[in-house]
Amino acid sequence: QVCILAMVLAWLVIYARFVQVSRQRMRQRRFALQAHQDTLRGMMRQLEDLVATDELTGLFNRRHFLRLASRELAEMEPGVVHGLALIDLDHFKRINDLHGHAAGDQVLQAFAGVAGACLRDGDVLARYGGEEFVVLLPDCDAERLTACCERLRIAFTDVELVGLNVRSLSLSAGMTLLELGDDLDDALQRADQALYRAKRDGRNRCAAAWENVDA
Ligand code: GH3
Ligand code: MG
Ligand code: MG
Repeated sequence: QVCILAMVLAWLVIYARFVQVSRQRMRQRRFALQAHQDTLRGMMRQLEDLVATDELTGLFNRRHFLRLASRELAEMEPGVVHGLALIDLDHFKRINDLHGHAAGDQVLQAFAGVAGACLRDGDVLARYGGEEFVVLLPDCDAERLTACCERLRIAFTDVELVGLNVRSLSLSAGMTLLELGDDLDDALQRADQALYRAKRDGRNRCAAAWENVDA
């Protein structure tokens, strides 16, 4: 009986050790898994940033802007108005032709820096494509949108580029207001038509869709 009891005891000790080692291994695996999950989450965040960002300027890209603007529009409350402006750098091709593509890139980056400084938290600025940018000012009115675009226009004409003698930088902007039930594509088209007018009227100016000036 003593012998059997000793054997059972020995088995219990061995089994307890086995359970302890298994538990330890499981815990280590759980930690490793958690570390992998954290790494994966970080990589996902990096990937999301990469997908949303324009590489040259660090601004949001067009796709991300459209996503954000659609969301803003969908969540809009009655009585609230948003401002939208399309901004196009004037005679940008000339800068590339006269000073080279790298200089053009520098101008685009300078615009991003200047524009960022002119906006407030919550405003959305993105590179819409090439030398064209778009800005969305939530909870805004015609006066504030105009003031903001004018501030941006003037700030850009004052830009000084390091190591580059590019003279007369300017931009044109087309502005419109977004109201509840508005369609984003329609609003972008209105802003584009206003931008076209700003270009046609001599550039270096902001034109508003609500002014509704005919050809
Ligand atoms: P406008 O005043 O009518 O807007 O004339 P513009 O010269 O600014 O416009 P246009 O559409 O004729 O030329 C735009 C140029 O922008 C052509 C294209 O090569 C250049 N561009 C587009 N993307 C980039 C970029 O990422 N870097 C540089 N350096 N140039 C770019
Ligand atoms: Mg241009
Ligand atoms: Mg253009």
